[in-house]
Amino acid sequence: MTKAYGGTRAVDDVTLAIPGGQFVALVGQSGSGKSTLLKTINRLIVPDAGRVTIDGADVGDGPAPHLRRRIGYVFQNVGLFPHLTVAENIAMPQRIGGAPVDVGGRLDQVELPHDLADRSPAQLSGGQRQRVGIARALAGEAKLLLMDEPFGALDPVTRDALGRRVRGLHDELGLTTILVTHDIAEALLLADRVLVMDAGRIVADATPAELLAGK
Ligand code: ADP
Ligand code: ADP
Repeated sequence: MTKAYGGTRAVDDVTLAIPGGQFVALVGQSGSGKSTLLKTINRLIVPDAGRVTIDGADVGDGPAPHLRRRIGYVFQNVGLFPHLTVAENIAMPQRIGGAPVDVGGRLDQVELPHDLADRSPAQLSGGQRQRVGIARALAGEAKLLLMDEPFGALDPVTRDALGRRVRGLHDELGLTTILVTHDIAEALLLADRVLVMDAGRIVADATPAELLAGK
């Protein structure tokens, strides 16, 4: 799969298969193509060549809403709707035509107290906001969780706690997870498989143990 911007091949002829249930970290320097690759998976970006399939279905084919609902996406800047409450943000998949959302259950999953439900995003800490973003991403019964530098703006302690919670949710819910991060330590700690990108290509594909052994 390839996506270019002018002369820049942001993603350069990448072929990748991710088995269900895997937790994949996509690492690499800024500008290496991580975010572009991630966004082609839920069609936020349409590739110039190649295709993306999920469970055998091409995400570029026809009406993809049923497929998209199974994909949760967490933005780097969280992207909560500022004029909606925490509960309304989490119930967003329901607003756009999905099944009713158990907001309390979702708050529990990300370890947030229920009394935050009626606050606006501006009344939350950065870590709490990102927890709401994760709850919203999973609220539509997502099976595939895509995260673009979700912990980048957080302090190390919050970052660590949230990373471990995401790994816990991955295991509990049987998710397939792709985490874009520039933090190799975070990738080694959380992922089953680490993909290293450089100039639009995947230049390493290994388990944390293999990487630590210098393979
Ligand atoms: P990363 O997520 O690893 O930082 P990106 O996927 O954001 O990398 O970017 C890969 C390359 O594509 C970079 O050279 C970047 O400047 C370029 N790029 C990304 N998005 C755009 C865009 N909308 N317009 C032009 N160039 C872009
Ligand atoms: P980032 O570069 O931080 O990953 P993007 O540029 O991908 O963020 O997205 C910009 C903003 O667009 C998001 O923060 C969000 O507010 C909004 N947005 C785009 N698509 C969606 C969506 N499907 N659900 C919610 N917000 C969205």
